[in-house]
Amino acid sequence: MRARILSATKALTPRRGMASSASVAADLTPASLDVKAIKAGDHYRCGPALSFEVEGVCGRARAATLHLPHGPLKTPVFMPVGTQGTIKGISTLDLQIPPLDCEIILGNTYHLGNRPGGDVLEHFGGLHKFMAWPRNILTDSGGFQMVSLLALAEITEEGVNFASPVDGSKMLLTPEMSMRLQNQIGADIMMALDDVVDSKTVNDERFQEACHRTLRWIDRCIGAHGRPGEQNLFGITQGGLDVSPGGLRDVCMDGMLKRDANLPGYAIGGLAGGEDKVYFWRVVDHGTARLPQCKPRYLMGVGYPLDIVVCTGLGIDMYDCVYPTRTGRFGTALVHSGLLKLKGAAFSSDDQPIDPTCACYVCKHYTRAHLNLMLRAKENSSNVAQLVTYHNIAYMMRLVREMRAAILDGTYADYVRAFVHNMFPGGAPVAATKVAAETSAAPSASSVDAAGVGGGGAAGAAAAAAAAAVVSPTYDATAGSGATGVPEEDAERPAGPGLTIPGWVIDSCDAAGFDVRHNTTNAAVLALFEGGPRANSVPSAAPAPGSGTIRTAVAGGGAGRATAAKSKAGADGAGSRAEADLSSVVVPMRKGPQKADASGSLSSAAAAADDAPDSIRAHIPGLAGAGAAVPSDASVLAVHLPQKRKTPDVL
Ligand SMILES: [Zn+2]
Repeated sequence: MRARILSATKALTPRRGMASSASVAADLTPASLDVKAIKAGDHYRCGPALSFEVEGVCGRARAATLHLPHGPLKTPVFMPVGTQGTIKGISTLDLQIPPLDCEIILGNTYHLGNRPGGDVLEHFGGLHKFMAWPRNILTDSGGFQMVSLLALAEITEEGVNFASPVDGSKMLLTPEMSMRLQNQIGADIMMALDDVVDSKTVNDERFQEACHRTLRWIDRCIGAHGRPGEQNLFGITQGGLDVSPGGLRDVCMDGMLKRDANLPGYAIGGLAGGEDKVYFWRVVDHGTARLPQCKPRYLMGVGYPLDIVVCTGLGIDMYDCVYPTRTGRFGTALVHSGLLKLKGAAFSSDDQPIDPTCACYVCKHYTRAHLNLMLRAKENSSNVAQLVTYHNIAYMMRLVREMRAAILDGTYADYVRAFVHNMFPGGAPVAATKVAAETSAAPSASSVDAAGVGGGGAAGAAAAAAAAAVVSPTYDATAGSGATGVPEEDAERPAGPGLTIPGWVIDSCDAAGFDVRHNTTNAAVLALFEGGPRANSVPSAAPAPGSGTIRTAVAGGGAGRATAAKSKAGADGAGSRAEADLSSVVVPMRKGPQKADASGSLSSAAAAADDAPDSIRAHIPGLAGAGAAVPSDASVLAVHLPQKRKTPDVL
């Protein structure tokens, strides 16, 4: 297979149906470096297959829609990572249905090139058809594996020599090969191959070499791109942590901007490697201050919710990370106040859902106690991992929709304040907000069982009872924020209640133009974090500017959810019966809005089948295959659920 990839030389043929959908109206405003400020209503032509429609601007934060070959993409956006054509634990059909409703996912060129291979994907008409995903795809170039698989990679001017983590065989990934593979994959957005250096490296010469090589390789990428009219090539800016005037970040950015006519969008790379957060945000700040206003900006590998909230304030539009899915597989759930490590004994009799304010299926039907029981029973581990992963993706989608609504509403500063104070109930530190204050701010309770032990301080004592089962992540100066920095379960360093706001958060928000030292008084925004259960009200459509989306988002009650979830725990052990073969399930394509589950009970299979994600429904006796009628056009998809991994858990 690999030999076929490397020897593939035949000309790429236009992909059926792509050319027409990819064309961008010629009468739009051409994107230009001369555009110094954008405003709602602007619509820029960034390339033949991408236009950037600005819908709201709030300080430096932007809400926009990218028009791409496979449909609109509303920003800010989080892109779940589907390394080899699947999001682990979630079917492509579930991903398209609210509350997930993902408009783009990320595929990895290196892994897809290894298996099934570019020729196979091209034979199928590209990855979209291969994995039954009709929406947008972004592919990494493979360059990131230089860091994550460094022990297996050798970097030369020609390209990167990888040893396969599966069988040790060699694969040379050149800029030309990366473009060729991404053309075969058919991604809507392709990333240039860059020379990535671990951000913690202390070797200036290596950063110099990588910066200049990245610029040489961007020309090779542009030259080798076979479908510039149908697929969008994004340039990646490198340069380590050097944001000094004329420094490496400037050198790389200047070089990229010289190629602006060939680059519909840009990414900031080389971060999320566990670097000091004090430097992390400054690189983001530096990048968004200089990148074109009228084109999308993508911050690679960043997926901590706090990082996303802060960096959106600095002007980032797009994010990706394995964090939400990986941590979900360990039984850790994301909530606005931090993390829930559901294996903890504190949850064994907790009758609440993961998040009473979450509209996802898992939060509607499962208690923390039930999930805890399944997590502690090894035979159910894959099943419950799927449930928590589903919630975590739903959480990320809700987060970016809330941010977007706040930007459109002109209340993004309030949103950030409420988010930060909800996560760090101890408020702002009294002392200076420098590194020293940050590193000493976090207590070191090691698990939810110990929550409250390490809280410290008067504020911690007051908050301890309410937050006893909630673990706030430790966003200290050394915490990684991305793929390589994603903490494994044992490496997570949760802290107790009373945690004060890290200095880097205060400083970065100052740079974004809003002070987070004090919380907001905006009741509608506060209600997002303090409110009780709510109905299926996560907005999935683009709200009109100034429409007060946040207020409508919190309207409505979710009475009965806790009760329903409680009754579910003892009902039928749903989810604990995962013996069914899930390797391939044929499910009907459902259309239209989901019905509300009035009773919240699973006693009615038909009612539950209406809102159960298909891959989850397959777990539940009596629900698999039941419920929704096949629509009149009888569109039926074969959904291939993830198989057991055979490759190392790396990206
Ligand atoms: Zn949920």
